[in-house]
Formats: sequence, structure tokens, C-alpha cells
Amino acid sequence: MQGLNEVEVLIPEEEIQKKVSEIAARINRDYKGRNPLLVGVLRGAVFFLTDLARRINLPVKIDFIAVSSYGSTTESSGIVKITKDLEFSLEGEDVILVEDIIDTGLTVKYLLELFEARKPASLKVCSLLLKPARLKVQVPIDYLGFEVPNRFIVGYGLDYDQKYRNLPFIGYLKDK
Ligand code: 5GP
Repeated sequence: MQGLNEVEVLIPEEEIQKKVSEIAARINRDYKGRNPLLVGVLRGAVFFLTDLARRINLPVKIDFIAVSSYGSTTESSGIVKITKDLEFSLEGEDVILVEDIIDTGLTVKYLLELFEARKPASLKVCSLLLKPARLKVQVPIDYLGFEVPNRFIVGYGLDYDQKYRNLPFIGYLKDK
């Protein structure tokens, strides 16, 4: 399988799935009687979002936004460009922003400001991963999977040069 030589496993598949179930259970409790709108950030959050959605027992809606940050792939510049906007209006919706990883926090900060202006009924952040050592701005994280070390993370949606997204586990590139 791709990646087994270059990637050091950090979080095995079973641990990810257990955590996704825990987060879904919290969302089931917190949003009882409501229909939250899960907004995934393409492309990294797709694997997490679809696993999460299948474990939520409420009628969720799903939408996606695609962003690219100017600058290199490993260092976010903080200038975010929307390459694909949402299909739905957020007005009056209970929005849960679903991210794969929060690194500097700049992408989530930008998206929260953008979404807030669209007048949702509520807005929360759900991220599978957080690199605490790299945070540059304070962002509210309502649901968090795991904290990870300051390494280049791949797998379970996260890529390096479009590779490794389909690994079922999360790891880091040994030479990065
Ligand atoms: P932030 O704006 O928080 O610095 O960066 C968020 C985005 O940068 C993530 O959604 C992801 O696309 C990318 N990113 C940050 N750290 C990593 C990493 O370790 N691995 C990968 N594959 N992408 C990362």
C-alpha cells in the first residue's frame, strides 16, 4: 500500500473511528430536534465529514466550500481565496464548520468571519486535528478530535501533493 515506507503512523484507523463516533454522539445531544448544516472544507475534510455524518442520527444537510491559501503548501499565508463557494444560504441555519486540521488557525478565522456575515442561527467549529504549537490566532473549537505534533500530517483526507489522502490512518511524513 502507498505510504507505508514514507509515513509514520500517528493515529491508527480504529482510534480515528472511535473519536468520530464520540464527536457524533456529542453533536446528537447538542443538536437534538434540529437539522444542522455540516459545511466541509474541500478537499481534506471530506473523509472526516462523511464518516461523521453517517454517525449523526439527525437529518443533517451537507455543503462544501473550497479554499486555497496563497503561498506554499505547508505554510498558510493567511490570505484565503474562495475557489468554490457554498450552494446554500446560511441564513437561519445551525452551521457546523467541519475542518480536517487547524494549523495557524487563519483559515478557520477567515471562514468564521465570512459565515457570520451570512447570518446563521448558530455557528460552531468541528476539527479533527489541531497543531497547538502553530496557532497564530485564537479560534473557538467546539469539537476537536486530536492534538498533533508540529509535523507534516497526511492521511484520512490530508494530502501531500495530492498523495496519501486515501490512507485510512493519520500519520506524518518521515522526511518532512
Ligand atoms: P491554517 O490556516 O490553520 O494554517 O491551515 C489550515 C489548512 O492548511 C488545512 O485545512 C490544511 O489544508 C492545511 N494544512 C495545515 N497543516 C497541514 C498538515 O500538516 N498536513 C496537510 N496535509 N495539510 C495541512
